Amino acid sequence: MYVGGEWIESKLAGTPVFNPSIGEIIAECPVGTAADVDAAVEAAQAAFPAWMETPPVERARMLGRFKMLLEDNFEEIVRSNTRENGKTLVESRGDVKRGIEVVEFALGVPSLMMGEVLENVARGIDCEAIRQPLGVCAGITPFNFPAMVPLWMYPIAIACGNTFVLKPSEKVPLTAIKIARLLENAGLPKGVLNLVHGGREVVDALLTHPKVKAISFVGSTPIARHIYETGTKHGKRVQSNGGAKNYVIIMPDADVENSTRGVIEAAFGCAGERCMAGSTAVVVGGAEKLVLPTLVEATRRIRVGPTDRDAQPDMGAVITRQHRDRVQELIGLGERQGAKVLADGRGVKVSAAPDGFYVGATILDHVQKDMAVAKEEIFGPVLNVMHLEDLNAAIELANHSMYGNGASIFTRSGKAAREFKHRAKAGMIGINIGVPASMAWFPFNGWDESFFGDLHMQGSEGVQFFTQQKVTTSRWFGYGEGDIWHRDK
Ligand code: NAD
Repeated sequence: MYVGGEWIESKLAGTPVFNPSIGEIIAECPVGTAADVDAAVEAAQAAFPAWMETPPVERARMLGRFKMLLEDNFEEIVRSNTRENGKTLVESRGDVKRGIEVVEFALGVPSLMMGEVLENVARGIDCEAIRQPLGVCAGITPFNFPAMVPLWMYPIAIACGNTFVLKPSEKVPLTAIKIARLLENAGLPKGVLNLVHGGREVVDALLTHPKVKAISFVGSTPIARHIYETGTKHGKRVQSNGGAKNYVIIMPDADVENSTRGVIEAAFGCAGERCMAGSTAVVVGGAEKLVLPTLVEATRRIRVGPTDRDAQPDMGAVITRQHRDRVQELIGLGERQGAKVLADGRGVKVSAAPDGFYVGATILDHVQKDMAVAKEEIFGPVLNVMHLEDLNAAIELANHSMYGNGASIFTRSGKAAREFKHRAKAGMIGINIGVPASMAWFPFNGWDESFFGDLHMQGSEGVQFFTQQKVTTSRWFGYGEGDIWHRDK
């Protein structure tokens, strides 16, 4: 753990960190306590006044050095990411690149923090609104993007002059440690970023600590709701991203090759362990005859295997043995409830790594909206296929979901795309794009049960979240200054 600029051991026994590709323990994650949280928050609080007074342009320069170190150590971070998460090297490169883009965005902090002024709100009276940091902020992150998700949070928070305590996922702590070391090497003053590992005790201590002003969370919906409710109850600002179930609508006029590629990438990229995974394909009208056979063929061709070596498969392992078993059980449940298994990833054999946590790419066809697989976030390489007659019914189906992260359409019709964009109840819309995840300059924009809070991560909303406005109204009287205003007379 990294507290007040010192690397320290936890007092409790650690929890195992696996390499999912081979199913072996590669490290132990420290388990922090409420006392460790307290020490980290105190260190962050002590570092705050000087960091707040550091001019934004100097804070940006420090982040510039950090960005260069991220780029210089890019491949090493990528391999660490793959080793503890299981995703392919190509996917890890995307993970790290998206994270670096947030640092690039945060480099603009001198402009991003600029305020507003109106002269003469009344005669001789001016009004200005400036942005100031909040103080100590905290972040709690999931396993599926070990590099990117922590980088959604602290670069913007510290660019704005806050100090930060990060609790990474206990399943993937190694990449977060590696990246924090780079920030240390970039010259970040002690205590500005702190790292406390662990589970619920650490999270609860952050949620209730009186000196923590704001909490950023990314993870599953039940925990996201708990974080939002507990954090706000304790007077904190909270932005809390939850799970998702994203629909990809394929219209009968969609280009077969592009839509197949888009759906395959959306459903099976990162082994389906993505909050933006396109986990349900809705084939509209004639699209079932045109696209479905190609989709099934392409899915059956997906090679699964270990990602922790130079020869790369198409898809890696899922995060844990338990998660693999749960995904397989859900496939079985879908089948028992009436879905047709067109591609079956259960019991896939990987001779190069027989103990890895593998599930092959799976398609469940004729899924109905009341089946468990249609409602639950499977978070694995399973694509549900649903058949509907027209766009209207497809939009209504997608809007029926309790989640609201992403929704996509594949079509050649501008009219259909426009209709979909206007009516879809989701915060990130894809038009001929399978994974419409926002880039750093835009908010990562979940709706409904995919997000709890008001201001999203990234983009200008990220800056608003990590700052509070101060509005000053001023009037100056010309007395007691002699005749200095009239010397030329
Ligand atoms: P998770 O909710 O199990 O864990 C997330 C974090 O919360 C971890 O740091 C974990 O230690 C902590 N945590 C777990 N249980 C807790 C509890 N009872 N009390 C307090 N803290 C607890 O999520 P995960 O399995 O690591 O990640 C996958 C989930 O994250 C999926 O649901 C996925 O959709 C979601 N996700 C959402 C987004 C988004 O932007 N909406 C992005 C990535 C992942």
